[in-house]
Amino acid sequence: MAGLYIHVPFCKTVCKYCDFYKTSNVLLQDLYIQSLLKEIEKSEFFFSDFPVRTIYFGGGTPSLISSKNLDLIFEKLSRYLDFSKIEEITLEINPDDFNASFVSALKNTPVNRLSFGVQSIYDDILKYLGRRHNSLQIFESLELANSSGYNNVTVDLIYGIPGLSNDAWIKTLEVMFQNPFTHLSAYHLIIEKNTVFYNEWIQKRLVEVDESFSSFQYNYLVDYLKQKQFQQYEVSNFSLSGCESRHNSLYWSGEEYLGLGPSAHSYFNNTRRWNVSDVGEYNRQLMKNEDCYTDELLTETDLYNELIMLGLRTVKGVSLTKLKQCGDSYYSYFMNKSIPFFNENLLIVEGDYCFLRNESLFLSDGVIEKLFLAK
Ligand code: SF4
Repeated sequence: MAGLYIHVPFCKTVCKYCDFYKTSNVLLQDLYIQSLLKEIEKSEFFFSDFPVRTIYFGGGTPSLISSKNLDLIFEKLSRYLDFSKIEEITLEINPDDFNASFVSALKNTPVNRLSFGVQSIYDDILKYLGRRHNSLQIFESLELANSSGYNNVTVDLIYGIPGLSNDAWIKTLEVMFQNPFTHLSAYHLIIEKNTVFYNEWIQKRLVEVDESFSSFQYNYLVDYLKQKQFQQYEVSNFSLSGCESRHNSLYWSGEEYLGLGPSAHSYFNNTRRWNVSDVGEYNRQLMKNEDCYTDELLTETDLYNELIMLGLRTVKGVSLTKLKQCGDSYYSYFMNKSIPFFNENLLIVEGDYCFLRNESLFLSDGVIEKLFLAK
């Protein structure tokens, strides 16, 4: 099983915490689409060698793609892929783009899963984050998705935001659960380099939240979602049974994927490759029929580190069979380094999988770091 990721690099405005590749020059969309169609053509080898079962449109803001351009993308993809075999096609949506005319454009496509960038239910926090939607648009768009027959819906939330009290986070979850959705991703606000928040942090105009807020809000999230029958299957991801993201699960279990569009990453044949992070350069290279990526053959150590990093963030854990496939020395290294975590009952082995106890998933970064191998 393999996945296809398509990066749509346009945002009307830039959120203050965002370090994804994007441009606010939305006028470049038609040219980008022509380049993307070219890149799809150049990827025929992948479509014939790997069984693509999921497609994910991420960004940027995929809900800015015009109806005409959405049709062009799916028409081109249909030459290489049999959509009856694609299990999940997700499109990320900014709530203020989602209206009746967008739904009617979407209905012409095989998209069957919608991902709403909600982030917060409070207008002052949304403004603080630099988001362009408001809370009313969140609730209206989720209702419209539901009444339009989209019942595989995920929402993204952010916690650990300066100014977001614990009570406000509790209320966020209560209010969100009055709306229809089947999957929720919640991420702690991270101050990334090259963002507005980073500059404010350097200038001491922004202070990160205290660790006690972070852990309260995360633990409350995990407990609350359990009560709502949302199962946690990754550090930041929760869903009703059967509604897990197949596309993201494919990344975490080390399956192959192809990324198209500027800055998109791919992984196949033990090779990692990444496209140029500049839409102008991306367009130029593809129009000249040149490759728009750099690639690197992964070493056994890289593959071992990837397995640990991705697997231990999931409830399922890391496959011992796959670890052994990296080589006996890697497997022994992992087992030896894990002894303290086994003794503390943080790490558990059951059948073919080694995983962190659910309550310890929040600590996964620290554990993973200790199990990593230097290159
Ligand atoms: S968070 Fe999303 S919408 Fe905001 S700037 Fe980044 S890619 Fe664009």
